[in-house]
This record gives sequence, structure tokens and C-alpha cells, in this order.
Amino acid sequence: MCAFGRAERRWSSRCSLVLSRQPAVIAATVPIDEVSVETKQRAENDFSKREADLQALSQWMYDNPEIAYVEHNTSRRMVDVLREGGFDVEYPAYGLETAFVARIGSSGPEVVICAEMDALPEVGHACGHNIIASASLGAGLALAGMADELGIRVTVLGTPAEEHFGGKVDLITAGAFEGAAAAMMIHPATKDLVDPQFLAVSHIEVEFHGKESHASSEPALGINALDAAVQAYVNVSMLRQQLLDSDRVHGIITHGGAAPNIIPAHTAMSWYVRAATDERLDELIPKVETCFKAAALATGCDVGIHEEGSRYKDLRTDRVMSELYARNSERVGRPMSRLADLPQSTSGSTDMGNVSHEVPSIHPMIDLRCYPTVNHQPGFAANTVTDDGKQIIRDGALAMAWTIIDLAEGDWWSELGRQPTVNS
Ligand SMILES: [Zn+2]
Ligand SMILES: [Zn+2]
Repeated sequence: MCAFGRAERRWSSRCSLVLSRQPAVIAATVPIDEVSVETKQRAENDFSKREADLQALSQWMYDNPEIAYVEHNTSRRMVDVLREGGFDVEYPAYGLETAFVARIGSSGPEVVICAEMDALPEVGHACGHNIIASASLGAGLALAGMADELGIRVTVLGTPAEEHFGGKVDLITAGAFEGAAAAMMIHPATKDLVDPQFLAVSHIEVEFHGKESHASSEPALGINALDAAVQAYVNVSMLRQQLLDSDRVHGIITHGGAAPNIIPAHTAMSWYVRAATDERLDELIPKVETCFKAAALATGCDVGIHEEGSRYKDLRTDRVMSELYARNSERVGRPMSRLADLPQSTSGSTDMGNVSHEVPSIHPMIDLRCYPTVNHQPGFAANTVTDDGKQIIRDGALAMAWTIIDLAEGDWWSELGRQPTVNS
């Protein structure tokens, strides 16, 4: 079905873009609806010409999941699709074996479309990054034939290792987003939400060191590192009563000892500490670390605490881009909710949060229509290759491409990053 056809009827009303949820209200004078109709139709046509390749890519990724930083075959296939579409591709890029940068357009503001690609251990593409990859490539291909005409540069950035390590943080450090005017991606989920909350997160590894002894004949000579781990878990559980509703602290014991008859001399734990903002995370981490230190003190163990990988920052949704996206998503037949309209919203974290602190960004969530099957469950992976999964690729690609057309034809660049972000 032609998504544009459904939309066209509603496009006849000439209305300007009004953002009214925050005190700082802006009203555009550019009648973006009418100037971009023909351009958007062309973008849809160009997308449709490559849609079969994009759906095949998503299916292939589903069948051949590759986890963080070993997405070698995945990234190669993505690059092939972009090269066929006329993109100038650098691969590998920015010092990362599975990252790539695909550029088209000779001058003007640069829009970066992030293409995630990594799967999860054991549950495959249970976060739907196969859909993200195909939708982001699709948005780029939809715009490839008109970038110069729009006066923009379109970059499709292959961003590995979102589920672990924080590939986008490494890309930021390497300069991949320097000078960009805007960045975007979509993410499959269980709701259509244009301005989701994503929490800042720190991954913390904890080790307790005690002393072995015979657990029955000479327990008094031992120093029990498992007791320290259990006490740490209990300390954090007690801390929770004094935490904010948006704080999240959750951990597991990754090594609990060698045998029941040996007092454990070494135990290890992995913790995620999350908060609504980067600043709150800075407050929260010392409280959690105190729980670990207190457990060590109580049991006589030594404790080692270190943050693993990069911290993910909270997501800051750009207001202008999110409103443009919501309008375009509605026009492909997928109306978007706003966070403020939901009774309650739970969330995880994403390295796109870090990007959003560098470049005006959006990261809308798109409903895979399989609730209560949710992200990171095997059933979610299976749903990425259903008709609903295929529809998300089309809807997300077109809504992103049309949003970029609006940015260009409405000349919104100077407004980006100036309005209060949705979640700040
Ligand atoms: Zn995930
Ligand atoms: Zn994900």
C-alpha cells in the first residue's frame, strides 16, 4: 500500500508546525506540507525500488545474528547494499572493524542516520537491530537521489556494538559525529513513541577477595567472599527504598565460589546502575559503591570496583525533529504517542543517548505489535521477520527520510538543539 496516498488527504490543510508541550513554543512560518509533497513521493518511490533488498537484509541478519564488535558479515552486507545505491563508503571506519560510513551529497548540513547491527548472545536479534539496519539503510537510499538537490549531506553510519561496549561512544571519540547537524534512528519496541525516555547507565564489575579454608573443619580460618557478595546484594536491596522512581540498580553474581566445601576466596558480580540523567547517575554511583564497600568491611574481604566500558548517557530528544518525525509517521499510518501522554513508561539505555548529547537527535520507538512479547525475549526476534516487522522497516525508513526532507526544505537547521529537549 502506498503510504503516501493515505497521507495525502490530510496534507491539504496548510498548517504550520507548532510545538506546544513545553513553555518555549515555536511556530514555523514555512508551509512544509506543500513544498515537500512531490519530493517525498519521489523518496518513497526510490525506497520501494530497494525494499526487497532491505527486507532480505533483515531476514539474513535474523538468520545469522552476530554480537557486538564481531558483526563482520553483517556490516559487509550492509555496505554492499549502500554501494549499490551509489553511496561513497569507507569500511572499516573510525578504527572499528565493523563500523562503516556511507556518504552521499556534496555540500550542506550533514544528517547522520545511525544503523545499528549487533545481536544479543543466545537470543539473536531479540532487540530488532536487523530492523534498525534495514530501516536506516532504507532512509538513506530513499534520499540518495536527491541529496544534492536538497542541499544536504546524508551519512549512513554503521554503528556496531550497541548492546555491549557502546560502539557509538567509540565513534564519537573517533570524530564520527563532528560537525553533524542532526542524527537519528528508529528502534522496534512494543509501542509507537516518538520521545522515549532512555536512562543513563554505568556497568560496574565488583570482585570480592577473601581466603579459602575447609568450610566444615576450619571455617574460622576462612574469609568468605560469597558472604560479601550476598551482603552487597542485600545492601543494594535496602538502598532501593531511598532511590528515585527512575533509578534502576540491578545485578547478578557471576562467580560465586568453586565448591561448597571451600570457603569462597573470590566472588564476582556485575551491576547496572541507571538514572534518568547523567547528573543523577553521578550521585547514584557512590551510593551503590558504598554498599559494596560496606559488604567488604563487614566480612573482612577486599573489594575491587571498576566501571566496564563506556557510560551510556540519557537520551535527549530534539523537539523540532521529534515533531517533524511524528507528523511524518502519522502520514505513513503510524501515529506516535508522546511520553507525557503515557501513564507510566519504563525504559532501558542506549548509546544513542551519548550521540544526543553531541548532536540534535531523535530515537523514536516503533511498535512491533507483539506485546507482551518484549525486547530481549526470543519471541521478539521471531517477530522482526513477520509482516509487522517488514512494515516497521518501511514506516521507519519513510518517516526518517521525510523528516530529513522537511529539515532541508523547511530550513530548520538553525532551530535544532535550541529548544529544550523533550526529556530534559
Ligand atoms: Zn537491546
Ligand atoms: Zn536495541
